[in-house]
Amino acid sequence: MTEHLLLCHRDIPNLHKLAVYQQHGGFEAFKKAVTKMQPGEVTDAVKASGLRGRGGAGFPAGVKWSFIPNNIWPHYVVANADESEPGTFKDREIMESNPFQFLEGVAIAAYAVQANVAYVYLRGEFWPVAAELDKRIEEMEKAGFLGDKLFGTDYSLRIHTHLGAGAYICGEETALLESMEGSRGQPRIRPPFPAVYGLYGKPTVVNNVETLTNLPLIIAKGAGWYKSLGTADSAGVKIFSLSGRVKKPGNYELPFGTTFRELICNCGGGIIDDRPIKAIMPAGASSAFIVADDKALDTPMDYASVRALGADLGSASVIVIDDTVSIDWVINKTLHFFKHESCGKCTPCREGCYWMLHLIERIEHGEKTKESVELLRSVAKQMQNKCLCPLGEFSTMAVTTAIERFPKDFGLED
Ligand code: SF4
Repeated sequence: MTEHLLLCHRDIPNLHKLAVYQQHGGFEAFKKAVTKMQPGEVTDAVKASGLRGRGGAGFPAGVKWSFIPNNIWPHYVVANADESEPGTFKDREIMESNPFQFLEGVAIAAYAVQANVAYVYLRGEFWPVAAELDKRIEEMEKAGFLGDKLFGTDYSLRIHTHLGAGAYICGEETALLESMEGSRGQPRIRPPFPAVYGLYGKPTVVNNVETLTNLPLIIAKGAGWYKSLGTADSAGVKIFSLSGRVKKPGNYELPFGTTFRELICNCGGGIIDDRPIKAIMPAGASSAFIVADDKALDTPMDYASVRALGADLGSASVIVIDDTVSIDWVINKTLHFFKHESCGKCTPCREGCYWMLHLIERIEHGEKTKESVELLRSVAKQMQNKCLCPLGEFSTMAVTTAIERFPKDFGLED
């Protein structure tokens, strides 16, 4: 793609400056929404566009907004900028280099659900990003894009940033809300869902940074235009964070439906030292392993096609593994991460992550016996469908699929 829609700062120098953003149509979409559209029409347009959440779950954004009840007030919008999945680094680039398109998206979402206050929740390590966003928000206030009676209407909006303390679990939307309220960042039992009982017990929309950054495009250019990009199942463009054993890691904005081979070989320049590709983790550390055969490499990257390979696209953090890397070593790394990040609220995840790490260390350090590997698989299987939030489930995906799809790496027969 030559012209970016989300990473457009790569085509337009100084896009992080308000004047430059405005010269390229900045805030026209927000103005159009507030002055020419009813809030429900904005939601309908986003529904019609087919935009799905880019944080990992892929839930339709407009549908999520339509769950907000109109008999409980106030409403809130929270941008989830707690980008912590190992292998994911797209939201940071958006916020650092194209901040106004993101903030305009926050404003459009807020108008759609009639929230007068919106928050950007950033992981604690992103404090320099938050400091810059605060300046951009101030500039928007001075320019009349935030504040009271916007564009001469009765609609008012303010945006605030909020820093977490660096916990992966706060990317889970109910743990994020707990953290914002000053409590320990642990997931809530659901239902009720945040759309009904969210921040301070009020209806709240939580959307990922990349999801929100799409909104100005949809309002400015129309739902039909947006839907024409990508595939029938997955509309629009996606930022793929490519990492691992590739020559050119980085963020690549591509239409949904681009194949793994195009991403890895064309964008990423192929594998370091031109080694054979062994495995792909399409959704960061939370991912199932895909065996990188020709069928997988020629699979279009959209939600349905990746699921057919026995994995999920998630936030599209594509980690590439070549034949120099042993899969049990990778599992050791992912389990170190999940054991560290388990919030400890529920027993299957708290104890399961601890024991899985203990077992993989044993296996990696020489005890590659059938019994040890079976025990590891058994612990992972016992955790599945028993954890309070997706983190516990995520921690098992790599383990079970690695043993099933790469048995040789665990000393098992094919
Ligand atoms: Fe916490 Fe893990 Fe349970 Fe989620 S699954 S609530 S992270 S202990």
